[in-house]
Amino acid sequence: ADVEVVAETGSTNADLLSRLGELTKPLLRVALHQTAGRGRAGRSWQSVPGGMLMFSLAWPLSRETHALMGLPLAVGVAIADVLHALDLPVQLKWPNDILRDGKKLAGILIESAANKNGGTWIVAGVGLNLQLPETFEANLGRAVADAPWLARMDRNTLLAHLLNALAKAFEQFDQHGFSAFQARWNALHAYANQEVQIIDHGQILQRGFAVGVDVSGRLLLQTAAGQIPVLAGDVSLRPV
Ligand code: ATP
Repeated sequence: ADVEVVAETGSTNADLLSRLGELTKPLLRVALHQTAGRGRAGRSWQSVPGGMLMFSLAWPLSRETHALMGLPLAVGVAIADVLHALDLPVQLKWPNDILRDGKKLAGILIESAANKNGGTWIVAGVGLNLQLPETFEANLGRAVADAPWLARMDRNTLLAHLLNALAKAFEQFDQHGFSAFQARWNALHAYANQEVQIIDHGQILQRGFAVGVDVSGRLLLQTAAGQIPVLAGDVSLRPV
């Protein structure tokens, strides 16, 4: 992959999405600060200059855009495994977050566009909190995690580990889909068999016990009416 590093930009995902037409190979874009970082469904991702590792990776897949369900979860597994190998125990929150001690350490945002050959360009954005100022939580209004120990590690080395893991994950996902990641995801599940709510635009959509994810990456909820699969879409999960 080609690599670009910028001090500041609006959103590395937005930058890469606007350039997909001109790409001929994978491109990694790293920003030390984002002024308009994005989460899912128009939510925002906050950063402080130098306080986190933020990057987006554009990668071509042979799969069609509609066959990407589960990709954010597969990316979560790849990143969690890198962090585990660096002695940072993390867990996964469905569908797209990485938690440390139950608090959000990293977010993942996958966006995509069809390419000319029937395949897809994906843009995988990752924001990983390394060292946040004390005021960060209060400003955000929710508990978040960082990883000061990782912050002391060489950023290029950390980035190289993540890039290698993501490249492998994309290739595996392209060939086998989410099935190759299901067991590992369930082993890292933060809310296994805990009671959770699924929230959609502020409304409680479902409530039940989070069993785990199925072979396509849908969350299996045990409810009074039996076990139901939940599609990621724009919904969010909250522990009860
Ligand atoms: P949630 O994390 O609320 O369940 P989500 O997984 O749908 O929702 P995303 O869209 O992935 O959330 O990420 C956006 C949310 O992440 C924001 O609404 C904000 O609460 C939170 N957030 C923003 N910046 C950070 C950060 N640097 N660290 C941790 N959390 C953040």
